Amino acid sequence: MASFQGPLLYEGKAKKVFGTDHPEECLVLFKNDITAFNSKKHAHLESKGSLNCQISALVFKLLERNGIPTHFLAVREDSLMLVQKVEIIPLEIVVRNVASGSLCKETPIKAGSKLAHPLVDFYYKDDDLADPLLTDARLDLLDLVTLSQRMEIKNLALRVNNCLKDFFQEIDLLLVDFKIEVGFNKNGELLVSDEISPDSCRIWDLNIENQEDRILDKDRFRKDLGGLTDSYLEVLRRIQSSNQFSLKDSLN
Ligand code: UDP
Repeated sequence: MASFQGPLLYEGKAKKVFGTDHPEECLVLFKNDITAFNSKKHAHLESKGSLNCQISALVFKLLERNGIPTHFLAVREDSLMLVQKVEIIPLEIVVRNVASGSLCKETPIKAGSKLAHPLVDFYYKDDDLADPLLTDARLDLLDLVTLSQRMEIKNLALRVNNCLKDFFQEIDLLLVDFKIEVGFNKNGELLVSDEISPDSCRIWDLNIENQEDRILDKDRFRKDLGGLTDSYLEVLRRIQSSNQFSLKDSLN
């Protein structure tokens, strides 16, 4: 496994990606920056990067244990994750269990309504275009992936949802929706990549009824509710408290 942090390969809004001394491995640094509304809103929050790195690491471990392939290899430092190199497909795949966010802005579905079946939406990952929602016909036109790869991606997203929804329920959290990014490694395997954290999920505390107080994710920032790092810490603590993880898991 790689032991050396090489050059900066890419810098995004919330992460930096570095090369390593291993050709098929990268180091991902989770930054303390947080953005919303296509970067119109921006802040720097101490500890946010480390919390998201630790939460993502545990979520990726859980997925792996359930047979779902991810790019995760190890946590190297507080905010630094070693991952397999993948070619990211420029799609954001969103799975929704409960209506919230853009679904409620763009349709008459009321916020908080439970969806009869999980809804999988594909968005084109492009800041200049503000990540537009894609139709099947537009996905065909863009030709980013074949039809069978699209089906494979959709199935992978639904498997992630099944695994995480049940896991979160056990720790009294409701997985409202989440976004994943996926990519192919050098062997052509499709891997869940990027991060799965309260920056990329909506998570509600099932022990709290108040509609604002129950929010444990980036909506606290979007809606100016404050207390974001405490909420992320609560998510981390709940995950660590699950009997799926031993103390050793949480430290590695
Ligand atoms: N999401 C994300 N990155 C994006 C857009 C959405 O991680 O660029 C996540 C978001 O945090 C939520 C889910 O995907 O958990 C669905 O987001 P939605 O389409 O409702 O958009 P929003 O209203 O959050 O912009």
